[in-house]
Amino acid sequence: MVAEKRILSRKDGVILLKAAEEIDRYGHTEITCPLCGGELQLDMLGTSYTIRCEREGCAELTSRGI
Ligand SMILES: [Zn+2]
Repeated sequence: MVAEKRILSRKDGVILLKAAEEIDRYGHTEITCPLCGGELQLDMLGTSYTIRCEREGCAELTSRGI
């Protein structure tokens, strides 16, 4: 299940999820924010995580459970 907080296109959502997966797996990603090109940050919280742009109010996507 993926809950989208902001209005993102499906394509942008896919990019964010891919970036989250890379950060989780490798500790970093070269994928940048699909909206502004900024760095993406991953916050893990229990079984959910939030992948967000370094710029507040920009792209953000929260995923809960697996
Ligand atoms: Zn951004």
